[in-house]
Amino acid sequence: MRDYTYIEIKYQLGVMMPTQEYQIGNLDCANCARELQEGVSHLGGVEVATVDFAKLRLIVEGNVSEAVLRQRVEAFGHTLENDNSQENPTQQTAAEMGGVAGFGQYLLTRNDTRMALIGAAFITGGIIAWLIGAPHLLRDALYGIALAVAVIPVAKSGLNALRINRKMSINLLMTIAAIGAFAIGEYLEAALVIFLYTMGEALEGYITNRARDSLKALLAIKPNEAHLLKDNQTTTVPVEQLAIGDTIVVKAGERVPMDGTISNGASSLNQAPITGESIPVDKSVGDTIFAGSINTHGTLEIEVTHSAEDNTLSRIITMVEEAQSSRAPSQRLVDQFAEYYTPLVVLLAALVAIVPPLLFGASAQVWVYRALTMLVIACPCALVISTPVTVIAAITAAARQGVLIKGGAHLEALGTVKAIAFDKTGTLTQGRPQVTQVKSLACNGDASCNNCDDLVALAAAVESRSTHPIAQAIVQEAAQRDVLSRYAQADNVQTLSGRGVQGMVDGQQVTIGSHRYFDAEFQHNGDLCATVREAEANGNTTMLLHDGDSVRGYIAVADTVRERSKQVVQSLHQLNIATVMLTGDNDLVAQAVGDDVGVSDVRSSLMPEDKVGAVEKLLQQRGSVAMVGDGVNDTPALAAATVGIAMGGAGTAQALETADIALMADDIGRLPYAVKLARFARRLILQNVGLSIALKVAFLALAMFGTVTMWVAIFVDVGMMLIVTLNGMRPLRFKA
Ligand code: ADP
Ligand code: MG
Repeated sequence: MRDYTYIEIKYQLGVMMPTQEYQIGNLDCANCARELQEGVSHLGGVEVATVDFAKLRLIVEGNVSEAVLRQRVEAFGHTLENDNSQENPTQQTAAEMGGVAGFGQYLLTRNDTRMALIGAAFITGGIIAWLIGAPHLLRDALYGIALAVAVIPVAKSGLNALRINRKMSINLLMTIAAIGAFAIGEYLEAALVIFLYTMGEALEGYITNRARDSLKALLAIKPNEAHLLKDNQTTTVPVEQLAIGDTIVVKAGERVPMDGTISNGASSLNQAPITGESIPVDKSVGDTIFAGSINTHGTLEIEVTHSAEDNTLSRIITMVEEAQSSRAPSQRLVDQFAEYYTPLVVLLAALVAIVPPLLFGASAQVWVYRALTMLVIACPCALVISTPVTVIAAITAAARQGVLIKGGAHLEALGTVKAIAFDKTGTLTQGRPQVTQVKSLACNGDASCNNCDDLVALAAAVESRSTHPIAQAIVQEAAQRDVLSRYAQADNVQTLSGRGVQGMVDGQQVTIGSHRYFDAEFQHNGDLCATVREAEANGNTTMLLHDGDSVRGYIAVADTVRERSKQVVQSLHQLNIATVMLTGDNDLVAQAVGDDVGVSDVRSSLMPEDKVGAVEKLLQQRGSVAMVGDGVNDTPALAAATVGIAMGGAGTAQALETADIALMADDIGRLPYAVKLARFARRLILQNVGLSIALKVAFLALAMFGTVTMWVAIFVDVGMMLIVTLNGMRPLRFKA
């Protein structure tokens, strides 16, 4: 069955107009993306237009032709690229290049920077003319040519934005400032302002491209070819030619090219690209393998389970890209602020230019110059870029460590978390319980009691339909006792969430469930109660079995605490985060596990809805709470928390889909890192926003009182954008 996207479904239902998607080229600043989005929205026939700055994509709903869209996009100085190409050429080249040489080459790919560079040559000429004492006219003419060349692309998109959006864009303000400065005789400054502005924009584009590309590097590690095994012969073929069900061979030291299951052989695999965990994991026949992991030793035969473009690594990357596109709450605030900031500054500048000369007879030359300087500072550029760049960098860095954060909002929320609630089974414990005791009421005392075997067989007939870790333990025990096929698998199986499971075996309704549930539902004698309680006191999780007629006995399982749980809980306490264990298991086991891992609080015998209640109560007490669970039966509690964190994203597609954050390595070990990273990102965003606003206000005031020149203002503006962008990139280097 093919998957429908959300948009397609909406379209099918007739709630939505046809949707088109394009890649946008030459789009390098967050601010320009906002302008373009508005510009496209104004087109006739367009219902909704979205420009996704993280993916550089334009999504248009409505009846509008490609030619019209192309014209509009080009009017803003960008290019519309083939709708099917995921890659953007400028982006690709930027990925391959690096450092100063890379930036230089990047400048040449952009029209506006090419023009600005030509302008720079004339500026240099003018300066030389001034140094050698050439006539003023020659010098100023050279500055004039520099301005005329460099301003063209800026003016063009500024005028287009005015015509289309009916708004004064930054490009327009820059154009006015530069031409105005020229008109009042500030020739060099006029040319310099445009040059510096264009370079600053280019620098911003270059750096954000590199942030985006660091994610794509993950995909690059997946081999493009595979050794296909057919009729006992291996041939090397491109991965696109492989079909689901094909068998491929992966030799020692090679990277796995496709997702699949091992059909022959055993090895240790380094799954770092997917889980962020580079310690190899042992795998053998039947185990799942992810494309991108390294086969450390031994030859493996693998049955392909996903097509090349649908493997886990690709899905992770798509998800991360989507996450990067979603706007963080702080970004919404900043965007709203930017909406008002620019018009306000323009108004202020107009007053500065008009009022003093007109009312107080001050020098027009002086005050117009000050007003023009203010226009230069009217760009909210640094402010607008600061949040998205930090979010992109932090989400990318986390993905590389196997922590999938599915949006800027979740990243910010994780940074505020004051308490973390953990599910017990499979989260704090390994989730691989083993049967420790089987006791039929009719047990004859033998080591291989047939009545006990029968109890396990009956339980397994029902549990084989359940995915609960306990179910797996019971089925495994039945297999060991060789009684797995004694009964046919149960029909009408029902999960009694948080209590047990029920199904029809041989026409009888068999129920397996917790002691608590049995106390309420099925009569059983006091002796049984006492033995069960004793098993619980020894750290066992107990399940009673009712065969439709009577209670037959109980099965006890025990799960081992994960080695890392203790450390993780300790690290979280150091981060001032309270830890709470929530479990449906009995009080005695819960307390034992809780004491072992050192959580601050233990809540046991909880139904799934009680877990939701517990999370809500924590929310009231602490304000911001994360819940960590296996993502399968803990979904309501995960949803109730500020941030829902699911374990084992790589293994279970469901966890990957439903949670806000997925721990791909199926291990809470990365949790303290994730919290620290999120806090770091939050701090950076606050710093960036604070710094940009403070500097803007300061320089506006300085400009108003004539203490800064125009070119110092633009220099500071560009420098600030650079600082903010580089600061925002720091999560990429954040160490676990
Ligand atoms: P946890 O909070 O540890 O994840 P659950 O809420 O999944 O636990 O389950 C709570 C209790 O319900 C278990 O300790 C067990 O006694 C019983 N139970 C749940 N599922 C099953 C099952 N498939 N078979 C038997 N007992 C079950
Ligand atoms: Mg559970």
